[in-house]
Amino acid sequence: MSHKKFASQADLVEKKISFDKLSDHAYAYTAEGDPNTGIVVGDDAVMVIDTQATPVMAQDVIRRIREVTDKPIRYVTLSHYHAVRVLGASAYKPEHIIASRDTCDLIVERGEADMKSEIERFPRLFQAVESVPGLTWPTLVFEKRLTLMLGKLQVEIMQLGRGHTKGDTVVWLPQDRILFSGDLVEYDATPYTGDAYLTDWPATLDAIAALKPEKLVPGRGASLVTPAQVKAGLEGTRAFVTEMFDAVKRGAATGKDLKSVYHETYALLQPKFGRWVIFDHCLPFDVSRAYDEATQYKDPRIWTAQRDKDMWEALEG
Ligand SMILES: [Zn+2]
Repeated sequence: MSHKKFASQADLVEKKISFDKLSDHAYAYTAEGDPNTGIVVGDDAVMVIDTQATPVMAQDVIRRIREVTDKPIRYVTLSHYHAVRVLGASAYKPEHIIASRDTCDLIVERGEADMKSEIERFPRLFQAVESVPGLTWPTLVFEKRLTLMLGKLQVEIMQLGRGHTKGDTVVWLPQDRILFSGDLVEYDATPYTGDAYLTDWPATLDAIAALKPEKLVPGRGASLVTPAQVKAGLEGTRAFVTEMFDAVKRGAATGKDLKSVYHETYALLQPKFGRWVIFDHCLPFDVSRAYDEATQYKDPRIWTAQRDKDMWEALEG
């Protein structure tokens, strides 16, 4: 088979940015499958959910926020630890950077390795990478749930279960029934499961569905602005995660090696999911983690820039 270029190194075309108003309190900065940023506008302050990859890229988010409000940006919430979502945080000069205990632990344990790995995976998504001052450290760490009152606007910051990572955090506006899901939900974009807990992920999607969101901002892909679209986003993510993991479990159970399982899983999923953005980028990482979880590794192993390349060569070389 043809030799595919590593991760997203061949993906160099700029995406069109949308800044959608979901309610008087909620906006979404989306870009055709690139990582999304959520914005919550309270009575007295603004919260940003995921920051973009670099401070220079975050300036475009700030510019758009300033078109709709002059309230101070006091809070940044991290949906999880991945570099491509968090390394722009310093641009907002927030009073607090909020993360779950599990996300904070992952930054301590693997933040440095993840930063180096992600910068090589997505050259287009780290514009002006030299503007990144280093890792983004939370200043306010919660367990399970944190309620923030932005004046009269209630903001629920919640860990509903593991899925995309151990620390996944969603932001829920109960009065507006709007949810910011991070990478737990994707839409027309391939879920990355390289650091996932695949056994747990479907139950976490159930917990999101139980909130009955009317609108949902996924980690990647367009804002979902009707209950039917929200349902489609949840079901598409669930279908990918379960079908991919089931295929890998079947292969692993018959003693096949990772490379055979990868090629079989790719062939099985490609017709249904291959048009989703970053499918070819994600699948080698996704199947690697699924094979680990199906065999001997309860927790995701740390990806380093070197492990990325070795895996890619083994599966795609
Ligand atoms: Zn992620």
